[in-house]
Amino acid sequence: SIPLGFFGGIGAASRSGILIKGSNYLEALNDVKTVVFDKTGTLTKGQFKVTGIHPAEGVTESELLRLAAYAESHSGHPIAESIVAAYGQRIEASTITDYNEISGHGIRASVEGRIVLAGNARLMEREGIAFWQPAGTGTIVHLAVDGQYAGSLVIADEVKEDAARAISALRKIGVAKTVMLTGDASAVAEDVGKRLGIGEIHAELLPQHKVEQIERLESQKAGREKIAFVGDGINDTPVLARADVGIAMGGLGSDAAIEAADIVIMTDEPSKIASAIGIARRTRTIVW
Ligand code: ADP
Ligand code: MG
Repeated sequence: SIPLGFFGGIGAASRSGILIKGSNYLEALNDVKTVVFDKTGTLTKGQFKVTGIHPAEGVTESELLRLAAYAESHSGHPIAESIVAAYGQRIEASTITDYNEISGHGIRASVEGRIVLAGNARLMEREGIAFWQPAGTGTIVHLAVDGQYAGSLVIADEVKEDAARAISALRKIGVAKTVMLTGDASAVAEDVGKRLGIGEIHAELLPQHKVEQIERLESQKAGREKIAFVGDGINDTPVLARADVGIAMGGLGSDAAIEAADIVIMTDEPSKIASAIGIARRTRTIVW
């Protein structure tokens, strides 16, 4: 039978916007010594803005942005939504006849009969397209049309105000080890991670690499220690399912993320993770 105190703990958590799917997860939170964070949408707002347009020779800025918006128009990725928003005009959906989202890479779509690629350096390398890096910090989306490099867009995201608080609150309650896993470029990951004081940063990961990183961390832990993974569910649902304690940020999180997670934070505040651990510890004191 489940001790009554656990229900008190789960109730207290839900009043703080933290949904815990069972008393075993509340119990597991007590033993969390490592918290692993996804970056985009978890530590950053996931509200990207196009801050630079860098067309290749013979391409205009407006044509580059238009093609990018068309290629991205079916994607729910925050990067895609920012490009569609920056374009700001109606998209003739019937001209997009073939569409593939390549996880951790970007998009390959047929737009007006032309093959458009929109994604990161890894996508360009995979497709054998020579590209160049524009100036400026941010996530870079390269574009190619029918095998020809067409230029790039620079997209900036903002770190959540609550993210630094989240890391320091964890440190205060003795969760010393924090890790960031991201599919984004190293330069962006290092910039965000260092600013927040995250101990370990792993960038340019594909979704399956994020799972491998969790497995590596789990193989290194001692005794009953537990590892929590916190993500928004975009490209990290398998990790949410695999971690000892999978925590979905409900603010932006998808239904699949809420389904895969053990704990759902209903707001977009990562500092709620330290609050949840605090509630778990007080609950254990009451139960025992
Ligand atoms: P994170 O791990 O930071 O949440 P993702 O795994 O969602 O990031 O994405 C990893 C990288 O893959 C992005 O930084 C981007 O370079 C590329 N990418 C993913 N989806 C898209 C898309 N729809 N358009 C362009 N690039 C994309
Ligand atoms: Mg993400």
